[in-house]
Amino acid sequence: MSTIVKVKSVEHLTHDVIHLTLEKPEGLVYTPGQAVDISINKPCWEDKKTCFTFVSLPEENQIEFVIKTYPSHQGITNELLSVKPGDEISVYKPFGDIHFKGEGIFIAGGAGITPFLAILKDLKKQNNLGKNKLIFANRSKADIIMENHFNDLLGEKFINILSDEELEGYEHGYVSQELIQKHQEPTLKFYYLCGPPPMMNAVEKHLAALGIPAEYIVKEGF
Ligand SMILES: Cc1cc2nc3c(=O)[nH]c(=O)nc-3n(C[C@H](O)[C@H](O)[C@H](O)COP(=O)(O)OP(=O)(O)OC[C@H]3O[C@@H](n4cnc5c(N)ncnc54)[C@H](O)[C@@H]3O)c2cc1C
Repeated sequence: MSTIVKVKSVEHLTHDVIHLTLEKPEGLVYTPGQAVDISINKPCWEDKKTCFTFVSLPEENQIEFVIKTYPSHQGITNELLSVKPGDEISVYKPFGDIHFKGEGIFIAGGAGITPFLAILKDLKKQNNLGKNKLIFANRSKADIIMENHFNDLLGEKFINILSDEELEGYEHGYVSQELIQKHQEPTLKFYYLCGPPPMMNAVEKHLAALGIPAEYIVKEGF
């Protein structure tokens, strides 16, 4: 079952990422890190559902998403590029197990940042950011979603790694065992992973090689 709500705003965050704000369906309950299926309520699109992660907090009176668009797929994310305030979106039932279990290292690739955006926003609100660190992997600086926001939030505990660009102050390459090891601290017990499957597979192998038990790995594949 779904609820139809209206688009409040759509803005560009990077060259291919939008921030979509919708009215909140009445009675909607979710936890930071959860996702939901949505569809665009217009002919030919109402049956095409795709999931996105809430970046708003449950107590806010609108719901927000940060969405990486793929115009070449001719799918929902491309269609979302042309939605306007007042257009209708169907919102289904929230789902997903990714949630904060304790201090750790968050490792995100591209749009995989979205559950961590919500979780870290929630921790900040509770004055509980602690020693949590974020390693954010992207191709280039232009792809980094909300870089200023994370700099302000985490300072030196925000580590960027770029695969296609070499820049001072940014790690270069892919997330490696050495990079994870460099940022490990005894109190950072949990490893939160979210990103495209190839990145997730590689990072999981690094964590296994570092002897991290499965119960300390919290993950969601995009
Ligand atoms: C739990 C979960 C939460 C998520 N949360 C977010 C989020 O918050 N933000 C976010 O940005 N993403 C998120 N994602 C990923 C997001 O769901 C996908 O990026 C999205 O489904 C892409 O939709 P699309 O319709 O534009 O393209 P797709 O569904 O990828 O493609 C539409 C059609 O295009 C064709 N196609 C597929 N790949 C290609 C290709 N490489 N080239 C050309 N055509 C192709 C196929 O025929 C396909 O049916 C999440 C995913 C999961 C599983």
